[in-house]
Amino acid sequence: MLRSADIKQAALEVGFDDCGVARADALTDEEYPLRQWLARGWHAGLGYMERNVEKRMDPRLLVPGAHSVICVVSAYGPPDPGRTDGMAAYAQRREYHEVIKPMLQELRTRLGIDGKVCCDTVPISDKHWAARAGLGWIGRHTLLVTPRWGTWVNLGEIVTTEECSEYSDYSEYSEYSDYCAKCGKCVEACPNHALAPEEPPMMDVRRCTAYYTTHNPRPLPPDLDTRGYTLGCDLCQLACPFSQAARFAR
Ligand code: SF4
Ligand code: SF4
Repeated sequence: MLRSADIKQAALEVGFDDCGVARADALTDEEYPLRQWLARGWHAGLGYMERNVEKRMDPRLLVPGAHSVICVVSAYGPPDPGRTDGMAAYAQRREYHEVIKPMLQELRTRLGIDGKVCCDTVPISDKHWAARAGLGWIGRHTLLVTPRWGTWVNLGEIVTTEECSEYSDYSEYSEYSDYCAKCGKCVEACPNHALAPEEPPMMDVRRCTAYYTTHNPRPLPPDLDTRGYTLGCDLCQLACPFSQAARFAR
């Protein structure tokens, strides 16, 4: 059995900014909104989201016998105010898969465990696992919000059959869902009304600039207001008080 404190210590030594451990259960509460979102067709051309829904919602289908999901956060900071190339904050940094995947592999080696390293390309819901691991909560812009770095974070996981001494109590940030319900600044900030005005948090990808400009760029709908973004879009994150309050050394 792994000690959760040792996992966190090892993650910090590898260079991650935070780490938490969740029990590898099914994401039952989170599955209904995902299915609602798919039924509305709000995933647009993201066909991969229709596939492996069960696996995405239950890591035991991804790694048979899984007991634990080790979740890590790597903070990258807000956009550089000096840049005028229309690139969102994450795109101004080194490609994050290249950075996080080897760090997760290094963490796995240090812990001496087997486990599946997940960094975006595996069917697992990174943000929901990060929330389950007590690293933050899901904001109305549908992203993970961390108390310290706001939304300016990348996420990754190791799904393992190892058991851990303690699992995070993911109710820690439950009151922030109430905060979000009253705030709604991200919803108001989206020039394309892509964010659902009511709970649960949901994004209509068909109206999101980031969808049209990342991965497989698509023709922009004529009425889409990109506000000058050419790769990604930060507007809903920039409006979030927690992202505004985050402080990073430059
Ligand atoms: S990324 Fe931009 S376009 Fe997409 S929901 Fe946020 S503010 Fe709207
Ligand atoms: S802007 Fe407000 S509603 Fe949106 S995620 Fe941040 S705190 Fe929650």
